[in-house]
Amino acid sequence: MTIRIVALYPELLSIYADRGNVRVLAQRARWRGLDVALAPVRLGEALDPATADVILIGGGQDRDQALVAEALISQAPALRSAIADGVPVLAVCGGYQLLGHRYVDQSGAATPGAGLVDLETIAGSDRLIGNVLVRVELGGAEHDLVGFENHAGRTLLGAGVQPFGRVEAGAGNDGVSGLEGCRVERVIGTYVHGPLLPKNPWLADQLLAWACEHNGLSPDLQALDDTLELAAAAAAAELARVERR
Ligand code: GLN
Repeated sequence: MTIRIVALYPELLSIYADRGNVRVLAQRARWRGLDVALAPVRLGEALDPATADVILIGGGQDRDQALVAEALISQAPALRSAIADGVPVLAVCGGYQLLGHRYVDQSGAATPGAGLVDLETIAGSDRLIGNVLVRVELGGAEHDLVGFENHAGRTLLGAGVQPFGRVEAGAGNDGVSGLEGCRVERVIGTYVHGPLLPKNPWLADQLLAWACEHNGLSPDLQALDDTLELAAAAAAAELARVERR
């Protein structure tokens, strides 16, 4: 009964505390009596898709993304295999951008992506920064996704790619379309840092439920007391509403 959490390149892509997402998933699993194995895949190491129940990749500066891109592309077949086997993926900001075809930075330099999701990102002249509130439909329910964003990139989703949610306050994918992130079945990309999962326990538990299912365990997780998490989320949502309506 061990849930295996794989973080891709955490030594480079964990900007704005994204590594906290790994800790939240691990702790919420342990609170349910599950054992947890943390398996970072560092630059130069290979992902074995058979050893993952959930995969996370965080955000980073342009230069960190450029350092990771070639390695991530080399892992694309393993990632495709894991995704096809039902392993959930959470990609945040720079990691989200690298799921797509390319990221073009403000100098015009293009960093190739893994091409796992039909999207591409072009940096704008300014950065989209601030608290963000997004309305997300997941697991048959509507949720407020809260956190903050800090990116130059403007992400354009391909025709068949659904957004993760719709912006209530903030910028999201491009500051214009009202779309935020992407979702293709169990692959979720988002610009929301925070880290994301402490204040969005419903998302953490959805990822954990998918990971349990992949591991052959029941996806029905015992409810936790999320009073503090939801109070923090409500405060963050109000901050976003006041700051960026
Ligand atoms: N470097 C990318 C951008 O500026 C991603 C930044 C991030 O991961 N926060 O858009």
